[in-house]
Formats: sequence, structure tokens, C-alpha cells
Amino acid sequence: MRKNHMNHNARSNHVRRNTRNKGNFACTLIVLAAAILCGAGVLYALADIETRGVSPLSFTESIFASELNALESSTSNSSTSNSSTADSDGTSNNGLALTGSGFASVRLENITDTGKLALVNREFAFAGAPAVVPVWPTVPVMFVDGMDLHPSALAAIADMFESAGRADAGSLFVSSGFRGANTQAVLYDNGANAAFALPPGHSEHHTGLAADILITGVSQAEMANSPGGRWLAENSYRYGLILRYPQGATHITGIEFEPWHFRYVGRPHAYFMHRNNLVLEEYIELIRDTGGFDFEMNGRTYHILHQFPRNGAIYLPTRLRYTVSGDNTGGFIVTAQE
Ligand SMILES: [Zn+2]
Repeated sequence: MRKNHMNHNARSNHVRRNTRNKGNFACTLIVLAAAILCGAGVLYALADIETRGVSPLSFTESIFASELNALESSTSNSSTSNSSTADSDGTSNNGLALTGSGFASVRLENITDTGKLALVNREFAFAGAPAVVPVWPTVPVMFVDGMDLHPSALAAIADMFESAGRADAGSLFVSSGFRGANTQAVLYDNGANAAFALPPGHSEHHTGLAADILITGVSQAEMANSPGGRWLAENSYRYGLILRYPQGATHITGIEFEPWHFRYVGRPHAYFMHRNNLVLEEYIELIRDTGGFDFEMNGRTYHILHQFPRNGAIYLPTRLRYTVSGDNTGGFIVTAQE
């Protein structure tokens, strides 16, 4: 049986943070919501959030994070420098027994960074050069030329458009995809509204994972109250896409409500953010401040683990499927699935 070593009060203080509160933007706390689950960890929920008609999703203390903490405190006390690598049988070189899946230390240059959870905003510029593919003819576009997206974002949008068609959400098309820094500079210098546009280097469109989606016959101003705009806001998470700049979050995102701008983050993350009404800034902060957490989606357990690299390496689980994304603020987030 895995023991919960955490001091519960310390934990609740540790995850104290700001969150939105039904429009009055008051600072609230994350509170311990419920019970101790058979020694497996503490169940958390985010308090005082708008629920969007769905119940907030609870989450538990990360099994990986506690194992990793044990591993790191053990190796930092160790006199040998290479004792941090976990063996495939789940024991590390220094004899520390690992529970759960075990870890291996992997150098950053050997890791595929999906970029799915890269936070790009006024504060954090994006310097990567994503591999992108043409959007047309996979999905309808405003202009055929120069409309590109990362393949994972494009596949998600294609799935979403197919469902939107069945739901009579209107005729959706992509009006903007990947933009390089030069394109963003032209847009910005040409006097794009500063409430909506970001300076070169700081646009989420640089990632290739963000798309502006419009509806034929519906203006940007009408979109939020159109059936298609509402369908997108309520359903995009099912495809791993988040409404990146929702209403009521401008004080956090720095961008006015944009009912057309969607960002691919992957399904478990979009699900968690949607259920708990978090924008990406809040979500990354939550992951970083807690060190990660576990939650259930469709009967599957997802393990989210945050790490700052040490000596150019992070720990990865040895027995579970996982993906890794840099958070673009110096940390790395591992998403593993049972
Ligand atoms: Zn956009």
C-alpha cells in the first residue's frame, strides 16, 4: 500500500492560487474537497469555479510526483553521481525501490517535445520552429496558400469539424493557422488591435497548434452567440482543443474574449481544463505548483507530472505510455496513461 506522506495543511497551502470566481475575479483557494482515498492519496477539487454546467473534475495527488520526490531526495543524499537512473525492474542503482512504474533519467536532447502544453503569451515568447502541414484540403480554409498547422492540431480540427457538421453547427473554416514571427510583425505593425494581437514571438500561432476558426455567414462579433460558436465552446475539449481566450479571463490571459481562437493541448488536458474552467496560464501554474496530479477520463487514469530539468535530463516512466511537452517557462510536463 502506498503511503501518503504529505502534510495535508502544507499541501493545501502549497496549491494556493488565484482562480476566477463567477466574474468577480476574487482570489480563492484550492481547497481540500473530500476524503482520503484508502491511503492512495488526497482527493482535490478546485473551489468556487464556474462549472459550465458540468461538475468540477477532482484530482488526486500525483503518484509519480511522490515517487520522484523520494527518488530525488535519495539521490541527492547519495555520494555517487550516476545513481539516479532507474533500472527496468523498478529499482534504482543506489538500491532505492521504486513503486509504480519506475523511472529512467533521459537527456532532453533524446526527448520528443510535443509542445502541446507550451505556454505562449505576453510574458513567454515562443522560439521553436514547428513542423507544419497545409490545412487544405483536409479542412475548409479561408485562403488555400500559407494556411498551415501542426499535424496533431489539424487532425483534431478535422475530427471536430466532422462532428460540428453532424450537429448543424454551421459551415466552419480555418481563417488563420501557423504564423511565423515575420507575419506576426506585419500584422502587429499594421495596427492590429492590441487587445487581440500579440507582438512577434509572443503569438500562440507561432506554435502551429493554434487556429482561428470562423463560420460562414457569421461575423466575429456574432460568433459567441451563434449556434456554431456555442457548439465550439462547449465541445472543442472533446477533440483536445481549448477556447484559449474565454470571456472573463482577460485579466489572466491578457487577451480579450476570442470565440474563434482554439489551441490544441491534447484530450486529457483539454478535458481537465474544461471541467475545471481553467485557462492555460492557470493550468500550467496548477501543474507546476502541485508537481502534478492524477485524474480519470473515460475510466482511464492519467498521470500528469511536472519537472524542471536537472543536469539536462528529466525522469520518464519506464512502463507506461507517455508524452512530454515543455511548458515554455522552463519546466517539462509528462503525461502518462494507464
Ligand atoms: Zn488566433
